[in-house]
Amino acid sequence: MVSLQGRIDSLSDGLLENEEEKIVTEGHVLASHDLCDSCDSTSSAYRRRAASIEWPPRKQPRTVETVEVGCLNVISGKYESLDYDVPDSDLLLDEERNSGLKYETKKNISRWIVFMFIGVFTAGIGILLDVGIDQLSEIKYGTLKSYVDRCVEDNCLYIPYLMWVAFNVAFVLVSSLLVTYVEPIAAGSGIPQVKCYLNGVKIPRVVRIKTLLVKVVGVICSVVGGLAVGKEGPMIHSGSVVAAGISQGKSTTLGKDFKILDFFREDHEKRDFVSGGAAAGVAAAFGAPVGGVLFSLEEGTSFWNQSLTWRVFLCAMICTFTLNGILSLYHGFTGQQWYAGLLSFGKFPEVSYFWYELPIYMMMGLIGGLLGSLFNYINYHLTVFRMRYINKRLWMKVVEALLVAATTATVGFSMIYFLNDCRPLGQDPTKFPTQVFCGDGEYNALGALWFQTPETSVRSLFHDPAGSHKVSSLSLFFILYYLLSVWTYGLSVSAGIFIPSLLTGAAWGRLTGMGLMWLFPDMDWVDLRKYALVGAAAQLGGVVRMTISLTVILIEATGNIAFGLPLMLTLICAKWMGDFFNEGIYDIHIMLSGVPLLPWEPPPLSHDVYASEIMSHPVVVLRAVERVARIVQILSAETHNGFPVVDVGYEHQDEGIACGKLRGLILRHQLIVLLQNKIFNEFSDLWNPKTNDITLKMFRDEYPRYKHIQDISLSPGEMRCTIDLRPFMNSSPYVVIHSMTLPRVFRIFRALGLRHLPVVDDTNQVVGMVTRKDLVRYRVNHHNGKMTREELKISEK
Ligand code: ATP
Repeated sequence: MVSLQGRIDSLSDGLLENEEEKIVTEGHVLASHDLCDSCDSTSSAYRRRAASIEWPPRKQPRTVETVEVGCLNVISGKYESLDYDVPDSDLLLDEERNSGLKYETKKNISRWIVFMFIGVFTAGIGILLDVGIDQLSEIKYGTLKSYVDRCVEDNCLYIPYLMWVAFNVAFVLVSSLLVTYVEPIAAGSGIPQVKCYLNGVKIPRVVRIKTLLVKVVGVICSVVGGLAVGKEGPMIHSGSVVAAGISQGKSTTLGKDFKILDFFREDHEKRDFVSGGAAAGVAAAFGAPVGGVLFSLEEGTSFWNQSLTWRVFLCAMICTFTLNGILSLYHGFTGQQWYAGLLSFGKFPEVSYFWYELPIYMMMGLIGGLLGSLFNYINYHLTVFRMRYINKRLWMKVVEALLVAATTATVGFSMIYFLNDCRPLGQDPTKFPTQVFCGDGEYNALGALWFQTPETSVRSLFHDPAGSHKVSSLSLFFILYYLLSVWTYGLSVSAGIFIPSLLTGAAWGRLTGMGLMWLFPDMDWVDLRKYALVGAAAQLGGVVRMTISLTVILIEATGNIAFGLPLMLTLICAKWMGDFFNEGIYDIHIMLSGVPLLPWEPPPLSHDVYASEIMSHPVVVLRAVERVARIVQILSAETHNGFPVVDVGYEHQDEGIACGKLRGLILRHQLIVLLQNKIFNEFSDLWNPKTNDITLKMFRDEYPRYKHIQDISLSPGEMRCTIDLRPFMNSSPYVVIHSMTLPRVFRIFRALGLRHLPVVDDTNQVVGMVTRKDLVRYRVNHHNGKMTREELKISEK
């Protein structure tokens, strides 16, 4: 406590006894003339800036009450940020000093162990999904096949059709009811949500146990329900939930605190674990541990260092190993490693290519980009339609999901019934070869494609020998499946988009190969497998626009490093072409929900924008020793989550601007915990080490769900007390000077994963506040060949 006292002594002592209490509420962006006199006098940067301001005039309202559905230019104010920065408080200092190196070593070892457990548990979820889907689809397709075989002779094919519809509807009903009424955040693959989380945005309920349960059951039901979906994307979300859950040593949902790992109860640690969980999810889904690590890296983890890479890699490897061992056991290969991931592309070891094929692959990449952007375009409009007319009534979401389930069965059945695509038996290693109207010794090729899960169909299209499919039936399959998958994405069910994209891509890729075979009948380089694979990669790349991680995932999934370059070129071309028209599907959905996602780079041509233009001003500040009544009043009246702590806090009465020398930064949740525990000066002597036993544990016990200010009851006497914020505040927060340019502010904020960045003037007085929403607001638009900067609005909801 001695040095703690030393730090306190360095702060000014004249702490505000008689200031008039005044909370500055109405925030507006500061134009050059708005700065308080003391800030303005010395800076030539303001004069420089005044001449170069091209931003929209400040009189535009910055916030809007409601958002027009489908609008991509409004950020939702309801999303809060995660704090990657550990508050550098005296409590932390005390903890370090008291616990020493032994504690740090224990924490480090625990970190490695937790990462290993994340790998094992994520593999467990993967196995559950795989075995569940395998068993249920065996029952479904086995029953359908036997009825089809029987009814072809008895002329009662309407029975298997109705059974197919009933199977689909029943399973999808379970998935949709769970997602719609129990946990809506479990809808879709969860990749956009994980992406936002890693970017630093708190998405409510995204990493809860309830979400995981709904996701697992929902995905099994959606896949068995025959929808054009896959289970791979949701694995990434599941891995993230597992990571967030087991790293905290407690479950708020179950109300159980295991009293372990409490040192990991902060956003910073949790986010690192979630990176590991996401990587393990990719590893489990595709048998691609390196792809998993790259996924976490590509999707926005702010701070990435060598040891985190190692831990995430170990986690992904352990996950692949566990999943492989247990799945191999399940399939009868005890002690061997045959099932690296849930999705197996089958082996492509001897697939090679000639350099002159590269342009063909690039062309296919461009086609994939076109088809992908068309997919995203249609799906965007469909989503807007859903937001406008369907999402308002929950039951309508369920009805839409059931309609898609029934339509999928109808499309499949019609194709089998009307297109007589017969092939000799033994060509295609399908599990349920159905004869339908084919002759003896033949099977219906479309029946083989439809009577299995979509991932098995992907494998069939990759590896079926030449001549297994007719051009006409495969073309029709491609068109119908493409449309079905556009319609399916965004339904109120848990499901992923990787597999339907790979399947449609494999279909048109195979068609391309068949075309080349027809053009060059004697050339042995025309191998249908590689064209189906490239088509699949192009389509998926065109839809999701991932580059590095997707290339590595596909290389690992095919097990053929030699084919890496064609895959990479294909994905780059698909991304370039797709980006020319619109954003990737995940980004479109993120923008539609108004999530303030920070891009990797600051907006271009923004060096003439200064911190003083983007910051909020006036700032709501607290004094180092503050009255309880004022804290309560501020927390009730304001929605801000961070408050600069100033030493003097005098106020310019005429302008209503609070200034004061910055001494620290305190977060809303810290204030709440202090109020909740009544850490008031009048009750305890914080500076007496003998009586003071306050540690960081008090804050960690409440993490992550803190009380609302309305839930804290204080007596009138307590309201008159004071709180000394100095031991608890972050006493060395990152700050920027008012004349710093936007790109620099952006980089500091992005790279350090900050949540609040106070802006100070030349004399260290607080003049503004920058948060994520202030930085995300600026976007550059290209219009009629001109580049204009646009300022997005922030909605209140
Ligand atoms: P977050 O929501 O990112 O967790 P927050 O709630 O503190 O953090 P935002 O919601 O991002 O802050 O802030 C909305 C607006 O309020 C931003 O323009 C920001 O600059 C401003 N703001 C944040 N804190 C303060 C403050 N203490 N005083 C004045 N304005 C603030």
